[in-house]
Amino acid sequence: MFYSENRSTILVTGGCGFIGSNFIVKLLCQTNDVNIVNLDALTYAGNEINLHEVWESPNYHFVHGRIEDTDLVKSVCIDFNVDGIINFAAESHVDRSIEDSKPFIDTNVIGTISLLNVAKELKLKKFLQVSTDEVYGSLELNSNEKFTEESQISPNSPYSSAKSAADGFVRSYHHTYGLPTIITRCSNNYGPKQLPEKLIPLIVTRANNDESLPVYGDGLNVRDWIHVDDHCRAIWLAYQNGKNGETYNIGADNEWSNIQLIKKILSIMGKSEDLITYVGDRLGHDRRYAIDSTKAQKELGWRPTINFEDGLKSTIDWYKKAVYVF
Ligand code: NAD
Repeated sequence: MFYSENRSTILVTGGCGFIGSNFIVKLLCQTNDVNIVNLDALTYAGNEINLHEVWESPNYHFVHGRIEDTDLVKSVCIDFNVDGIINFAAESHVDRSIEDSKPFIDTNVIGTISLLNVAKELKLKKFLQVSTDEVYGSLELNSNEKFTEESQISPNSPYSSAKSAADGFVRSYHHTYGLPTIITRCSNNYGPKQLPEKLIPLIVTRANNDESLPVYGDGLNVRDWIHVDDHCRAIWLAYQNGKNGETYNIGADNEWSNIQLIKKILSIMGKSEDLITYVGDRLGHDRRYAIDSTKAQKELGWRPTINFEDGLKSTIDWYKKAVYVF
């Protein structure tokens, strides 16, 4: 085998996307004890340049391919002596899922089952599924309710339906076959390396060019924002110390309506609110998400550490300087 016995080797899928690339770069910059094999299909959402910081690292390996390709996944796991899988790979944009749900079923559901089958066959030590708070559906505006791990699964979009189907399979592979699985469900992430089809990079890049800023419906839909680095730390703690079969909600208690958030970004950037343009609402638009992360805080010893004002300012600066992503 390629590696010494005491090193753990993790198959990270979807590592060329927004969260996966931040995860790999942060982890490899912090430890020498982990090898990462990144399996990514390089869809429109994946970009190898997101990993440029670790291209030269002997602990980083890239394989181009799809998670639905079970033979490929199996041979990668055998060749690299993989101990565990962290599955970031997904079709992740709700608007695209409303246009066509097929790629979401292929990657998010069939792809996850393919990974689970390999993990089961090779008796891998851990399978962590990166999931989303969107599987819980929507909360009322102006209520204090938050999603806990016990909340009912009520997905409203084709994206969240595919993610919750995948979560169901992960749960069932633990219950039925005893596979050591963990599910994390996080709220909306922001930070560098996210494609500008998502709200914050869309607003920053368009405002930077003085272009109109589309806002769905009345702009009052609420999202609970967390910096990607805080999410990645939670995933790593859950992978190392989480209890098999458990689910952990990850969030930073940071609710903003879309319109409040856009006005905040414009004020930081010194741009006019006249750029705001209300457009027709997204079909089936969830009204409010809010995460209760008490369990992760108690059981994993995790806490969000990045102040929203600071994180948002550094994120805005990153998009103002970044040209390569777009
Ligand atoms: P992203 O769209 O930025 O990246 C997805 C990555 O997966 C891309 O690199 C893409 O090439 C790759 N990919 C897609 N289909 C693939 C396939 N069939 N095989 C192999 N690779 C494939 O997504 P993201 O925002 O980084 O999200 C990562 C994960 O985190 C997803 O599972 C998503 O559901 C979850 N999540 C995201 C957020 C968020 O705010 N972005 C919040 C909670 C959970």
